[in-house]
Amino acid sequence: MQPPFTESALLAIDRAHAWHPYSSPSSTDPVYPIRAAHGCCLELMDGRQLIDGMSSWWCAIHGYNHPVLNQAAHAQLDQMAHIMFGGLTHAPALQLVQTLVALTPEPLQHVFLCDTGSVAVEVAIKMALQFWVAQQRAEKCRLLTIRSGYHGDTLNAMSVCDPITGMHRLFARVLPPQIFVPAPRCRFGESCPPEDIAPFAELLAQHQHELAAVILEPIVQGAGGMRFYSADYLAQVRALCDQFDVLLIADEIATGFGRTGRLFACEHSGIAPDLMTVGKALTGGYLTLAATLATERVAHTIAAGDPGVFMHGPTFMGNPLACAVANASIALLLADDWQANIRRIEQRLRNGLAACRSQPNVVDVRVLGAIGVVELTEPVVLRELQPRFVELGVWVRPFGRLVYLMPPYIISDAQLDQLCAAVRQVVVNH
Ligand SMILES: *Cc1c(COP(=O)(O)O)cnc(C)c1O
Repeated sequence: MQPPFTESALLAIDRAHAWHPYSSPSSTDPVYPIRAAHGCCLELMDGRQLIDGMSSWWCAIHGYNHPVLNQAAHAQLDQMAHIMFGGLTHAPALQLVQTLVALTPEPLQHVFLCDTGSVAVEVAIKMALQFWVAQQRAEKCRLLTIRSGYHGDTLNAMSVCDPITGMHRLFARVLPPQIFVPAPRCRFGESCPPEDIAPFAELLAQHQHELAAVILEPIVQGAGGMRFYSADYLAQVRALCDQFDVLLIADEIATGFGRTGRLFACEHSGIAPDLMTVGKALTGGYLTLAATLATERVAHTIAAGDPGVFMHGPTFMGNPLACAVANASIALLLADDWQANIRRIEQRLRNGLAACRSQPNVVDVRVLGAIGVVELTEPVVLRELQPRFVELGVWVRPFGRLVYLMPPYIISDAQLDQLCAAVRQVVVNH
């Protein structure tokens, strides 16, 4: 069925009434109506095809309109789209929690399903707070994190985003003040020298009495700067959290489900966090769903304290449709040699982006798993760059000083080459 709108009619409504992410309602930035999406291609209203380099903000790992995921959604729709999770339960949610427990580090045994990544982070923070309240240690209520992080847009999640690139200035009066340590300087693949972990260790020791948890993105800091740091650093963070009796929350919302070459980024360090959040790629980008996983110790401590229950319960908790698609997406990922495929993408990105390194406006080029980043000397002017990428037949959406690629895992070599060529061309002429 054709939509009843012409492209210009859609754009008029968009301009008049639609609010886009991080944008103003009076924005004149370009926005592109999409008619359909298949495989790795987004189809514009005028019929042009764009190769997708973003996986729709890192979610659509199997591409668009995948027959297996479509089938899972259809089948579940015929059973039930949604029922409340209070007092009721169902196979799609139970299969999902069982799978998540099996795939994540062994100590994580209890799964709280929620709607979005930001809410999963709020839930993890609330679990950490209740963990200490339950032990009559309510003074342990602050968080420590590393700079350049991103954990979502709700208030507590914002409070642990990078204080400069995040939104602290605007919301300073209501954000809980958290403790920030410099982001690790040691890169992925390097060991972590003592001077790199020292500021973390010092602040942790100094604030241990008031700290509920450390929260960070393991190995890859995503929307806060696309940085890849040492697995050794993360291992030392885990040991220090144990030493100073502070919980560790690993936010795997961007890294989960294979993006870094491991199923979860914590595996690079062989560590288990006390709480872990997953989201984004969980449903292969079909429906909004996220989860917070907790260890036996965290769950039982909360249960043993007052009021003996965890105080959170979203309306759409455990949505069967989303859970059914998540189950299908995870099964699809694990069905073939996904690690070899990520290595293929990694190698192709390395080769394809390497030439950017010699450009005077490029600070750094880095690749890890299915993530390729070109860091520029100056922030990009999105209004100018976006149409150029579209003219080159690709969908790439840079932010700040970062032009990056996070393609769907089903991307072909030829499509990857086209994405890299477009990035090279735009960066050279920037
Ligand atoms: C995207 C993201 C979030 C927030 O998820 P939403 O679904 O956008 O609320 C939190 N943490 C990390 C690491 C993310 O990448």
